[in-house]
Amino acid sequence: MKDIITRMLWAVLVLSIPPAAHAKLNVFTCEPEWAALLKELAGKNAKIFSATHARQDPHFVQARPSLIAKLRSADLAVCTGAQLEAGWMPMLQRRARNPKVLKGKDGHFEAAWSVRRLEIPGRLDRTEGDVHGDGNPHIQLDPRRMLKVARALSSRLQKIDPGNASSYKKRFQQFSKSWKTSLAKWKKKAGAVKGKRVIVHHREWIYLLDWLGMKRVGSLEPKPGIPPTISHLSDLKKRTADLIIISPLNDKKPSKWLREQTGTPVVVLPHTVGAVPNSKDLFAFFDNIVQQLINKVSK
Ligand SMILES: [Zn+2]
Repeated sequence: MKDIITRMLWAVLVLSIPPAAHAKLNVFTCEPEWAALLKELAGKNAKIFSATHARQDPHFVQARPSLIAKLRSADLAVCTGAQLEAGWMPMLQRRARNPKVLKGKDGHFEAAWSVRRLEIPGRLDRTEGDVHGDGNPHIQLDPRRMLKVARALSSRLQKIDPGNASSYKKRFQQFSKSWKTSLAKWKKKAGAVKGKRVIVHHREWIYLLDWLGMKRVGSLEPKPGIPPTISHLSDLKKRTADLIIISPLNDKKPSKWLREQTGTPVVVLPHTVGAVPNSKDLFAFFDNIVQQLINKVSK
């Protein structure tokens, strides 16, 4: 009898212990847009960290000890690549000494290689500026390319975390469906901006312009990463444009000057998720961009 009671007590005890929680995938992302994409694709299966916040310039980041520690404990690192993080990721990689996330390993994912990049300079032509040596890296600003990255990233998640593969697969299918619906909606809504001539501050908007059929007629920066100069701005004054696009990170003075000189309106668009109010996830990010563009051109 005593034996039975002891066994029953054991059974109660064992049943009351919750099953060991499946360890979450530790993901290090370089920019907020990839953290937002992972939230869509991995949900609760991943613990996501973003090395930069929306008000930080991803070209220039300090390799702080806290970032090194985060990279050291990561199972997967997701960055833009195409040299966007050339000034800080190699240093972080060296110091973190995490073999899982080294270049060439499954734990290393660079979004730029999943899509066709624009503005790839010729082999001997470095005149396009120092920060875009591998082509324009700002691919997050085209939702069609975002979907391609999502597909590749989901496959990678399934590969490095096979225990949750079916969950990743299902999440991607759901994301892809909603994204395609939104894509059609955005494109239709933004019809009025097609053909509009744009002056940008930094050349990060090329993928957005490519998607919506807008035309870049100049950049406030004479070369990517080089601040605007008086002579360059005076030259831009002679060009006809419908709109000036800047991000919240840019110095507002050059665009303000050009607007005062020419009357061309300025719009501040989010360059990443969360950079302006009402852009807190990937869907809201493009909702915001499209709405702001429409507001400006229909004035
Ligand atoms: Zn750039």
